[in-house]
Amino acid sequence: MHKNTLKRTRKVKVGHLVIGGSSPVSVQSMCTTDTSNLKATIDQIRRLEDAGCEIIRVAVPDMAAAKNLGRIKRAVSIPLVADIHFDWRLAVEAAGQGVDKIRINPGNIGGKDKVREVVKAAKSAGIPIRIGVNAGSLKALKATPNPRWKPRQWAEVMVKEALDEVRLLEALDFRQIVVSLKAADIERTVMANILFSEKSDIPLHLGVTEAGSFLSGAVKSSIGIGLLLARGIGDTIRVSLTEDPLMQVRAAYEILKALKLRQYGPDLISCPTCGRCQVNVEKIIKEIEERVYSDKVLLHRAEGKKIAVMGCVVNGPGEAREADFGVAGGKGKGIWLERGKQIKVIKESEWVNEIIRKIRSLK
Ligand code: SF4
Repeated sequence: MHKNTLKRTRKVKVGHLVIGGSSPVSVQSMCTTDTSNLKATIDQIRRLEDAGCEIIRVAVPDMAAAKNLGRIKRAVSIPLVADIHFDWRLAVEAAGQGVDKIRINPGNIGGKDKVREVVKAAKSAGIPIRIGVNAGSLKALKATPNPRWKPRQWAEVMVKEALDEVRLLEALDFRQIVVSLKAADIERTVMANILFSEKSDIPLHLGVTEAGSFLSGAVKSSIGIGLLLARGIGDTIRVSLTEDPLMQVRAAYEILKALKLRQYGPDLISCPTCGRCQVNVEKIIKEIEERVYSDKVLLHRAEGKKIAVMGCVVNGPGEAREADFGVAGGKGKGIWLERGKQIKVIKESEWVNEIIRKIRSLK
């Protein structure tokens, strides 16, 4: 599929980036560091930037964290989003500190007067607001803490609360809005986003919240986010995983790559190994991934390249025929291949370095 098949939404400017309109689906993540810890937070954001993260969100649990935002913002290059729960004054401080977007949860930010204060601050700072609705913290749950709603009813309540908040913001002549509707399961998340997109042109931030550990979270997110993107819904995505946020960025791009919506890094082809394998393909491929995905120059130069690592010379060279380059190995050594041609023999200990050298030489 192509970005042009995605539903056109209104444009929302987040720092130097645009969410919605005809912009590519952007990738975001959230820091796992304590925002009061300046060094740890800046280091993590820079690492994520190098891995291709395009928007970063930080938790702002208290005023100490809020007062750090300006310094964090000045030390990083990607748009910074302040994640605010409960206390509207933190949102006002965050806007004053120069963040690029504020995320509020209508379920816990308080009444209209408090939202009004946040809007006023965002307006004067010229930044957008994300209305982040989570199934677990809906206003409706205060009156009905254990509802026996079917997924469709959950989705309707989520959309209603999002639209109530949208109306409140738009009544204040504020239109730079992004909405997210997240639940911990795919069904409610997908239904709520479909329903919302039928009713509004506001760009959607997609994600399945509390998706879980790496494998289950990546699978759940791929299905949930993938189903929506395949229907043309979604403008920016965040894959929630109980993992290093770097893996969230990687997983997000893999989803976009699989749907042909974005390009990101190389297409690494490796065999699953079998009884014929006499080299450690798993270790080699992990090492290549670690080096490429933590270096934005390598990531950029390897973009769209097919790179193969095969565990034997019986089937490896044949299976790697379509790769731009790569290695097929025997015992302690391997054949270096470029577009199906056997170029030279290299030692197993040099496979990773040779592949990295080759990527670096690409223009
Ligand atoms: S390339 Fe060789 S080692 Fe790898 S799975 Fe195929 S036959 Fe087995």
